[in-house]
Amino acid sequence: MALTALEIYKLLPKTNCKECGFPTCLAFAMQLATGKATIDLCGPASEEAKETLGAAAAPPLPKVTVGTGEREVVLGDETVLFRHEKTFYHPTAIAVSVADDLGTDAFAARLGAIRALSFERVGQRISVDLVALRCASGDPGKYARAAVAAREATGLPLALLAPAGPLAAAVEATADSRPLLAPPPQDLGEAAKIAAERKLPLRVRARGIDGLQAALSGAREAGAKDLVADPAPENLREAVADAIGIRRLAILSRNRGLAYPTAFDLGAPFPDPFPAAALLIAKYGSLLVLDTTDPADLLPLLTLRQNLFTDPQRPIQVEPGVYAVGNVTASSPVLITTNFSLTYFTVRGDIEASRIPSYLLIADVDGMSVLTAWAAGKFTGESIAKMLAGCGVGEQVSHRTLILPGMVARLSGRIEELSAWRVLVGPQESSALPSYLRRLPPAAFLPANG
Ligand code: SF4
Repeated sequence: MALTALEIYKLLPKTNCKECGFPTCLAFAMQLATGKATIDLCGPASEEAKETLGAAAAPPLPKVTVGTGEREVVLGDETVLFRHEKTFYHPTAIAVSVADDLGTDAFAARLGAIRALSFERVGQRISVDLVALRCASGDPGKYARAAVAAREATGLPLALLAPAGPLAAAVEATADSRPLLAPPPQDLGEAAKIAAERKLPLRVRARGIDGLQAALSGAREAGAKDLVADPAPENLREAVADAIGIRRLAILSRNRGLAYPTAFDLGAPFPDPFPAAALLIAKYGSLLVLDTTDPADLLPLLTLRQNLFTDPQRPIQVEPGVYAVGNVTASSPVLITTNFSLTYFTVRGDIEASRIPSYLLIADVDGMSVLTAWAAGKFTGESIAKMLAGCGVGEQVSHRTLILPGMVARLSGRIEELSAWRVLVGPQESSALPSYLRRLPPAAFLPANG
């Protein structure tokens, strides 16, 4: 359990020497208690105090990294059960499988399909994270060659799903890329020794939470440190129950024996892999293995993941300003919305769909959506009139007509009072923009004196 400031203070030297940068030991203890400082700043602290306070400050769910460099995947390292308590740090990683016994062309095509599973959404790139290489051949040499080829063709980290012999051969060929070792339960002992020797992450798979606790203990005794727990569920209900159970034991009970990131193999014969994946993205799956390369299967899951792992306290924003959408002219419509990234990309996409080149004004509201910004007093008649006067759009168009989001129709009178612009109330939903823009009479955008 986390220590209070007073409990921490009792472990400090209490000399108020200020070496830590704080005026007193108590002030430093208060910073430690809130996670704003670390014990290494206190040089005079005893080894025992450093050990106790270091352990207390460790995240309840350890961090496990797979891969290296830009595509490194971080599993675990979470501190709360619910996003609103603080935030979630590391999105559920998604691995797509390929079997090593495919023919040369089919193997290359599958890797190409995995590499292509990368999409642009609201200005961010969302992609699958790992290649899960299934050993179907049983041949160590073939499996090792497949691991090298998968790594080279995709640039993604590997999860090596293989028995001990092929696993050892693939590790020999790819250890510098820090693959995740994922042996079957019967080969856990041998794989744990390899993981300990090479300092590689190891997936420990055993049925149910009790079985897993024993298997994790065995892996630790063999010297493996970076562990990922797979409770080997047989259906969706078991998978979700196990994921929630493990995370609750880790965060609430600080059960160090089970406090590990989780992995779930949702490939055949697992029933209902996509509903299970969606639920495990929401509820504590750290790594999911799926057998599909169909974008129609994966894009919804990646979108869900992006939505859940965006920190609501730090909305994704775009630069405020004037955006030209299409080949605009002086008589193009002028619309306004806010700089919440999802709002911007949605509205922009709908303007593009209308095929009516338009100017889009993006108001600076600290990344809030239209209604939130209005409720917070950041998207007002005054702020919009000020933007119209200062953003330069008046020099780019010959008319003075602004299309306002229908959600804030009530602002139209104030804008007209404070600016030289006439306001048209647009649709409530951005999805109605294409038909709305196409129906607008050209006379709406005649020059101001026309
Ligand atoms: Fe106290 Fe340690 Fe800070 Fe010195 S360095 S004031 S002993 S907490």
